[in-house]
Amino acid sequence: MKILSTINELNNTLLPFREKNLSVGFVPTMGALHNGHIELIKQSVKENLVTVASIFVNPTQFNNPIDLENYPRTEKEDIILLNKNKCDFIFIPTVDGMYPEKELLDINFGLMETVMEGAFRPGHFKGVATVVKKLFDIVQPHVAYFGKKDFQQLAIIRNMVSQLNLKIKIVGCETVREKDGLAMSSRNIHLTASERENASVIYQSLLSAKKEYAAELVLEKIKNHVKEKIEESGLFKVEYFEIVNATTLQPLESVFKNILVQSCIAVLTSKTRLIDNIELYRPPNIEFS
Ligand code: AMP
Repeated sequence: MKILSTINELNNTLLPFREKNLSVGFVPTMGALHNGHIELIKQSVKENLVTVASIFVNPTQFNNPIDLENYPRTEKEDIILLNKNKCDFIFIPTVDGMYPEKELLDINFGLMETVMEGAFRPGHFKGVATVVKKLFDIVQPHVAYFGKKDFQQLAIIRNMVSQLNLKIKIVGCETVREKDGLAMSSRNIHLTASERENASVIYQSLLSAKKEYAAELVLEKIKNHVKEKIEESGLFKVEYFEIVNATTLQPLESVFKNILVQSCIAVLTSKTRLIDNIELYRPPNIEFS
């Protein structure tokens, strides 16, 4: 495994693979790696001749400077983990290397970016789209792997690839969870012991919501139940819980059984903010891409 920190180094290293048009898989990350990231790496290693991972804590997607400052950084451990999992190259650029110009990409994602993460983290998706497009231009992968854990991000990236006609296949990978159901996240390290002990309530609430949706309970009631259940311990505050059309990401006002439905949640803890989501409803006999 080779570690590269400049675009030049990366280009020189990948040139022989590009000349032979060997398939390059790419996994962009912000580091502080866990099994969720590693599943993306494993899938890329299985499906491509070369796998490139990037580690870059992208400042332009943080709307809160304290969140950026506190973001966990575990580069040494990340490198060991990537090596162990047969990643071929790690790209670890500097902020100046990635942003010689301060300009952000100006893509209009329409209503998709006005809800959920887009509403609560202004400018977040502009930063995400900018860094992902820059990384795509630098790495020039055939396939890029993203987690469904960040469901809205995955939808935004698919939309960007379609708007810009990029020739990159986007693969969405299932959310990897701890044994008790908590979605793995680099931010889980910021949970206090009692928050960690109780955090599985987030996933449990999503599962209950799924049952209630199948039973066609009024959406307002489903939403209230989720909020009550999560906030009961006094440790957590629900920032948003939305039941959305999985394709458009627009919130539903009543139960629909002819579309793919997703539920997405953001929860505030004493020191961090966690997000999660599950598929709430999939109509039988309808194919979705
Ligand atoms: P991050 O380092 O948090 O920016 O995440 C890098 C990639 O890993 C993104 O595509 C995330 O969606 C994905 N990812 C993060 N956590 C998980 C998880 N628990 N399961 C699957 N993918 C994940």
